[in-house]
Amino acid sequence: MSQEPRPGEVLIGAERLQQRVGELAETISDDYKGREVLVVGVLKGAVVFIADLIRRMTVPCEMDFMAVASYGSATHSSGVVRILKDLDTPLEGRDVLLVEDIVDSGLTLSYLVKNLRSRGPASLEVCALLVKPGHRRAGVDIRYAGFELPDVFVVGYGLDIGERYRNLPEIAALEPAPVRQP
Ligand code: 5GP
Repeated sequence: MSQEPRPGEVLIGAERLQQRVGELAETISDDYKGREVLVVGVLKGAVVFIADLIRRMTVPCEMDFMAVASYGSATHSSGVVRILKDLDTPLEGRDVLLVEDIVDSGLTLSYLVKNLRSRGPASLEVCALLVKPGHRRAGVDIRYAGFELPDVFVVGYGLDIGERYRNLPEIAALEPAPVRQP
């Protein structure tokens, strides 16, 4: 009988998360001083992070969201991405900060960066709360990274498995770990 996976070991506690989000917001605010940032988020995982991040930022910012479907299994993306909901805002001439919850293989991010860059922003940088080791293969530059994670599947703070556990205030490893597709 298979056991339903649940949040297990807490890898990053709620206080540590808030502390790091504050540090990222401070660095971003310093870097964008005198400019207005357009924060672009990817639904739904990045919502919790973005909500905390922008409330700690001291530069003016707007936000917009896109929804994408990544072909592949629930735990393994293929890098083939379909846009389900596009941005409402034109990016031309804007200082865009793409905010991601987690970067695993980096394939989704690599697609998004290429897509957004083709829309002519004045600048485009990436902020990711969690980064797994595999992303280096995709070669995308992550200007602002919150935490390096080992190669484990995590939930909480916006991240789900089957739409559950997004509301946990911390990042926890899913146990038992989901089986990886080759
Ligand atoms: P990538 O294209 O970088 O391999 O995958 C990125 C997407 O896969 C993330 O935006 C997220 O939706 C999903 N993902 C990757 N690792 C995890 C994880 O540990 N937990 C959860 N909940 N989703 C993950």
